[in-house]
Amino acid sequence: MAPSTASSTASPAARIVIENVAIATVDTHDTEYASGHIVVADNTIESIGAGKAPEGLENVVRRIDGTGHLATPGLVNTHHHFYQWITRGLATDHNLFNWLVALYPTWARIDERMTYAAAQGSLAMMVRGGVTTAMDHHYVFPQGSGDLSGSIIRAASEMGVRFTLARGSMDRSEKDGGLPPDFAVETLEGALAATEETVKKHHDASFGAMTQIAVAPCSPFSVSTELLKQGAELARRLGVRLHTHGSETVEEEKFCHELFGMGPTDYFESTGWLGEDVWMAHSVHMNDSDIAAFGRTKTGVAHCPSSNARLAAGIARVPDMLAAGVPVGLGVDGTASNESGELHTELRNALLINRLGAHREAALNARQALRLGTYGGAQVLGRAGEIGSLEAGKLADLVLWKLDTLAHSSIADPVTALVFGAAAPVTLSLVNGKPVVENSRLLHVDEDAIARSTRDEAQRLARIAAQD
Ligand SMILES: [Zn+2]
Repeated sequence: MAPSTASSTASPAARIVIENVAIATVDTHDTEYASGHIVVADNTIESIGAGKAPEGLENVVRRIDGTGHLATPGLVNTHHHFYQWITRGLATDHNLFNWLVALYPTWARIDERMTYAAAQGSLAMMVRGGVTTAMDHHYVFPQGSGDLSGSIIRAASEMGVRFTLARGSMDRSEKDGGLPPDFAVETLEGALAATEETVKKHHDASFGAMTQIAVAPCSPFSVSTELLKQGAELARRLGVRLHTHGSETVEEEKFCHELFGMGPTDYFESTGWLGEDVWMAHSVHMNDSDIAAFGRTKTGVAHCPSSNARLAAGIARVPDMLAAGVPVGLGVDGTASNESGELHTELRNALLINRLGAHREAALNARQALRLGTYGGAQVLGRAGEIGSLEAGKLADLVLWKLDTLAHSSIADPVTALVFGAAAPVTLSLVNGKPVVENSRLLHVDEDAIARSTRDEAQRLARIAAQD
């Protein structure tokens, strides 16, 4: 475990002490404390355990009485499309392909101002609900639309959240049998060059990094085989992770069989897209051998239960994936297919939907659901050594959930209350040891101003798209 910054700086570590709190550490043994303490020193967890904090700690800048609360690792979101915040509530009764066809002409008109506002909206909703590591898979780069990646990274940085930008791309437009309009896609060379530039400009590989970049061509049906192959080569040359959509719908499976003569997993394997540095969104239509291949190669999955339900895509076989050793995290997915945009409600949805899918009452339990949303997410983002569980030496990304009000106070067990119960309010959320949410309010941005700007940008986009 890397040392805390306290040992490498001259000034003594500033400490935050939390006591009298129920703790679900989500460590390897699922260690829990009915009443325990957490000591944060600068940006890392210095100590955690049962009972009161050690006595005689110096430079304690804040003491928190966690009575009535559950402390968990901060939630990690592993799949999203921030720009969709300003196209929510459209094509509400469509399946994936028809929904994409309906929305691409509008999406193709986004600009930098819209993208920034939408990123703020998406981030605000998640961070307020306990997300401490966010990600955005952004793949729409219309010609002349400005510095979209820079604007998204700026929004995350202002919010104070840890962030992975999956720099997406599309090079298979209508003229090549793809779905996006011609002017909304990039050339193969242009997409690769812009992705490399984004990695070089923004990716931080160090312990505790606040911004990381992944290489993320959009999906098998919107990118060329060459972009997948060369994208994988680029990511491995630069030492960053790979992300895309995969096995989301039966239509995609049919598309792959018709065009490439094989299913999505075999196609991904043939293009270099299985491996421990890859995570795939959805993975709904996976047979036994697909799941075995993911388990063997440690290819990760971002499970997005609400979006899959909204688009009638199907139910991913998460219990089978976990049994096969597949790293699985949770994803909100873009908010054009999950209007709520909240990750803490996905804990509950993942649990319920996987019991339906497997038709088995213990297919997924509350602890496993919490693990998907925390440690599992850290695994698929390649950051399990830094975040995803509450352990001494790890980064201080944690949430205090308020469980002593009407919604939760009579539920027998705090983890059950968090996962099975109503969405719990966040009393405190720390990212890198710094508060980002207190008493359900975002500390670094004005939520009401974001509500207004996102409404205005949604209306501006609708007007521009209507002129086409
Ligand atoms: Zn998606």
